[in-house]
Amino acid sequence: MIIAVDGPTASGKGTIAKQLAAHYGLKRLDTGALYRAVGLAVIDAGGDPADQDAAVAAAERLDLGAIDEARIRSSVAGMAASAVAAIPAVRAVLRRAQRAFASDPAGAVLDGRDIGTVICPDADVKLFVAASLPVRTQRRLAELVGRGERISFAELEAQIAERDRRDTERADSPLRPAPDAHLLDTTDLSIEAAAEAARRIVDTALARPGA
Ligand code: C5P
Repeated sequence: MIIAVDGPTASGKGTIAKQLAAHYGLKRLDTGALYRAVGLAVIDAGGDPADQDAAVAAAERLDLGAIDEARIRSSVAGMAASAVAAIPAVRAVLRRAQRAFASDPAGAVLDGRDIGTVICPDADVKLFVAASLPVRTQRRLAELVGRGERISFAELEAQIAERDRRDTERADSPLRPAPDAHLLDTTDLSIEAAAEAARRIVDTALARPGA
């Protein structure tokens, strides 16, 4: 079984994907981590994440097993991720890695921006997770501050709005719900309530005749 979970940053899709994977006994790929790792690798090498050659070289060198989970979560890595993600040649390299992960017959949960539309268009269940911009900013702020980063609500809100704009307006694989995705708005939901709603969507979809 393949479950595709898409949505904008801090919508809750990562937490939902993690919980769905644990509940259904599936492995999970956080595809945003790949873009973050590529963006950070370019910065670490002193390059510009918008530079196609540097970003493609970093994508080709990416080792999924060696991603520095702590460092890729910074707001700088997030901005660098959305810059490299706008480069079609980078997406092509990372598409191969994501599809290889999803081709495991044991199934998987993948979360990102274009899983239901591009990476796994035949996924068994697709969720599109949304939440208001202020609520997403508050969630991400708590996470970043908890990790010792200093950033104001206003600055972070502007960064997230800019990433949303880049992600939805880019020509290659823009962020948008697949036509057959189930929408889940987590604005007013706790983590537990959102995870439960996601499980209900998956269970209902799997119970449909022909599923
Ligand atoms: O989900 P997360 O915030 O970690 O993603 C970081 C960035 O990576 C996003 O802003 C987006 O530009 C890019 N991304 C993407 N396609 C995906 C996952 C992430 O373009 N499937």
